[in-house]
Amino acid sequence: MKKLLLVFCLLFVFAEAHVSNWPLRPSTDLRDDAMKQIKAFTENFPQDAAVTRAKEILADETLQKDMHAWMRPTMDLALDILDRHPVSPDNEAIRKAALIILDYPIHVNNKADEPDVNEKWQSLIAYYQQRALKKLAETVKKTEVPAGKLAIWKVYNMGYIIKSEHHCIAWDIVRTNGLGQHVNELNEPMAELLKQIECMFVSHWHGDHLQMWCAWRILKDGKPVFVPDIPPRKEAPSPNREDKRFTYVWESKEVPAEGYNGITFKCIPGHQVQLLCSLFSVTIDGLTILQTGDNQDKTVFDHFAELGRVDVLIGTCWTSIPRNGLEVAKSCKGEGIERPQFYITGHENEMGHPPTNRESFKETYMRLGDRSKLPMPSFILNVGEGVWYPDGKAIQ
Ligand SMILES: [Zn+2]
Repeated sequence: MKKLLLVFCLLFVFAEAHVSNWPLRPSTDLRDDAMKQIKAFTENFPQDAAVTRAKEILADETLQKDMHAWMRPTMDLALDILDRHPVSPDNEAIRKAALIILDYPIHVNNKADEPDVNEKWQSLIAYYQQRALKKLAETVKKTEVPAGKLAIWKVYNMGYIIKSEHHCIAWDIVRTNGLGQHVNELNEPMAELLKQIECMFVSHWHGDHLQMWCAWRILKDGKPVFVPDIPPRKEAPSPNREDKRFTYVWESKEVPAEGYNGITFKCIPGHQVQLLCSLFSVTIDGLTILQTGDNQDKTVFDHFAELGRVDVLIGTCWTSIPRNGLEVAKSCKGEGIERPQFYITGHENEMGHPPTNRESFKETYMRLGDRSKLPMPSFILNVGEGVWYPDGKAIQ
């Protein structure tokens, strides 16, 4: 009996761990749920300027006749709300409503047996990302950062650009996955954006963190791209430095010792399953940023005492797997370890994944829980948005 109970418990735990908030469903079901979110928005924020448009969408019968016609107006509604309500403690509630509305068109099953659904979804997501990249290319260029501050922008997934008084660096910049030929619509603003950065840090060799299209554009300008060694191979992490254009960094506390161009960094060796995943801790103008990549390896904590003060932590949103993102943030305690001052989530809506694990803003909010209880301020950014450290205000 005890054995049976144990098996039952294990099955329950397994099933619980694999429940997806975004099961594969027809686009019409997603539309119905999106409309419920829009209706809730009109009730919860009746004074907001977007309510008129929201009511038009709810009353529009043509959106009921075509199973995909709701996607673009729903996305535009959410983006309009976010544009008017940038990152700020005062805007938290309305931003949450908008980001959750935004999740619905993004979570359309583009592989479904529905007419032209992949083409419509890819075209929509290319529009969404292109809009963000155009804004970023302009904003990153014009933003001047005073001493003691950082300007931090989300590009896509775990791709971030960070600018200080004298430096501009990047992590894991890629063009949005899953777009087919539509990805080319991102080329021009992405190329413009990449011109702004001095170097790029790559956490691991996965297509949503490293793409040759972006990497070559940085390298051809004579700027370095820092990567972990190449495997996964059985003998990992033995060196496998086949492509000499990259700068390989692994298991070193300060590499290269002299840094690059006044930028100093340390590499904490982690893993995503078998694959090497570097947690780069980078210091620019006296401020330190740590990005976790997709690390799942708890041995990284052995290195935290070496880091000193971390000003900004960028961690994955899928924190249900222990030792990622928020778990890293919460676990930064102990003698000689200073807790990061500022936590920013990443990896939301990775478009190369099927909707079932295209981890959403809704799930990020769920996992963060009561944010007032977190040991540091936390920020959830849409693509193209930026936040100032340490103020926590939006970059306009
Ligand atoms: Zn990833």
